[in-house]
Amino acid sequence: MSVQTVGADRPAVERVDVLVVGGGPAGATVSTYLARKGYRVTVLEKDSHPRFHIGESLLPCNMPILEDLGVMDQLKGMGVVKLGADFSLATDETWRTYYFCRSLNPTPPHAYEVRRSEFDEMLFRNATKNGVDTREHVRVTSVEWKADKTSVVRAVDENKKELVFEARYFVDATGRDTLLAKKLGLKRKNPNHGSAAIFGHFKNVVRRPGNDQGNISIYWFDHGWMWFIPLKDDVMSIGAVCWPDYLKTRTGTTEEFLLSTLKLAPKAYERMKDAELMGEVRATGNYSYTSDKMTGRGWLMVGDAWAFIDPVFSSGVYLAMNSARFGAEVVDRILKDPSCEAEAHAEFERRIRKGVGAFSWFIYRFTTPGMRWIFQNPRNVYQLEQAVISMLAGDVFDSKEVERRFQVMRLIYAVRTAMDWKGSLKNFVRRKRAALSIFKGVTTAEGQPDTLGFK
Ligand SMILES: Cc1cc2nc3c(=O)[nH]c(=O)nc-3n(C[C@H](O)[C@H](O)[C@H](O)COP(=O)(O)OP(=O)(O)OC[C@H]3O[C@@H](n4cnc5c(N)ncnc54)[C@H](O)[C@@H]3O)c2cc1C
Repeated sequence: MSVQTVGADRPAVERVDVLVVGGGPAGATVSTYLARKGYRVTVLEKDSHPRFHIGESLLPCNMPILEDLGVMDQLKGMGVVKLGADFSLATDETWRTYYFCRSLNPTPPHAYEVRRSEFDEMLFRNATKNGVDTREHVRVTSVEWKADKTSVVRAVDENKKELVFEARYFVDATGRDTLLAKKLGLKRKNPNHGSAAIFGHFKNVVRRPGNDQGNISIYWFDHGWMWFIPLKDDVMSIGAVCWPDYLKTRTGTTEEFLLSTLKLAPKAYERMKDAELMGEVRATGNYSYTSDKMTGRGWLMVGDAWAFIDPVFSSGVYLAMNSARFGAEVVDRILKDPSCEAEAHAEFERRIRKGVGAFSWFIYRFTTPGMRWIFQNPRNVYQLEQAVISMLAGDVFDSKEVERRFQVMRLIYAVRTAMDWKGSLKNFVRRKRAALSIFKGVTTAEGQPDTLGFK
């Protein structure tokens, strides 16, 4: 990195090829790939690792990226093997398990459940090992572009010292802070998918039997859905994603509210009869957003910095790392040949939107009677069940076979919704009402107070 002092009282300007803001999975991945290609890359992270983050269940399609990054052995040591995902109504005795080994195309047969504090630190330190200049406790405060597309980035470190960087290319990996989307006015909240989550870690929660003990469990209940994610050391991450009108009925502490919510799901709660809460209960407004663009002259966004849909299919980390891997290729192309920027950006947008779009179709309908029916009554006619498993594994980007079956599934969903039109209408009205209630007065993103009263 070259450093130039521009004035006695001004901070020195540090020049790099690529400046990445955000040291989560997306930032660590894009920077590692770019450093391996020989670029001078700096990552600025406002926090320091290890730090808590929600999002503990990984997908099989993420495994090749982790292998490629060279962290598989460490991952095996920190993760619990996840062979599939099970779904049930919170009042049902039985559950339906979807095993990844049955997916339509040959994707890896398992993934891992991880503590994100360990996982994110592993990726961040691995970036350092690969030659990335990684900095913690450095918060980016502004970014501007010169006429030649060079970005001028200002940041402050933990001693309140101002830092200035100039980069040939800028990558926004700031997650739900959405640095650029907010700055450029690109962020759009999804008015039809308002929800928020409340979660904690517990000991002594009953796991699924035998080889299924690492599987994620998803329960539908009257006010949304719940997750049970088994972590190492007999810890279970448990959370409820609820419609905001229900969350507004909260009384008592956040902990009391989580427990009373879990009691509304008797079959899930049964697994917690000896459970012991570890640490604090947290909450986050996770209402969906997307941004109008994910690229511009001299920049792109990766991971949650561009969009966050919903955690139900555990797709967030995979989408973040996959967009980062692809993003690194795009940045490399542009730095080698700036004239191809528009074309490379368009390709990036097309590809990322396609994958996220496939997940979204399922996600937005997940709590509707039609989609519940599809998940509870899987039939493998025309390999439709296997196509659902492919989606659950993350195989949504390249497979024509999977895509064709999604088209058929849309038809089945429409027929099923028409057959149960009364239930579907009731559900639609409820969701609309819930979505409207969250937007009344909400002005801030994660980490700030919202109308639900959570921090
Ligand atoms: C309730 C809930 C449950 C979830 N469950 C799952 C799950 O089971 N599986 C899954 O795959 N995903 C899950 N997710 C989604 C997942 O957490 C995210 O998709 C994933 O973390 C995105 O990675 P990222 O690198 O884009 O962003 P992040 O992991 O959020 O990283 C962004 C980083 O940028 C840093 N940063 C932000 N602003 C600045 C700044 N100005 N300067 C410097 N640094 C900055 C932040 O400190 C942070 O470290 C869940 C999400 C929620 C809300």
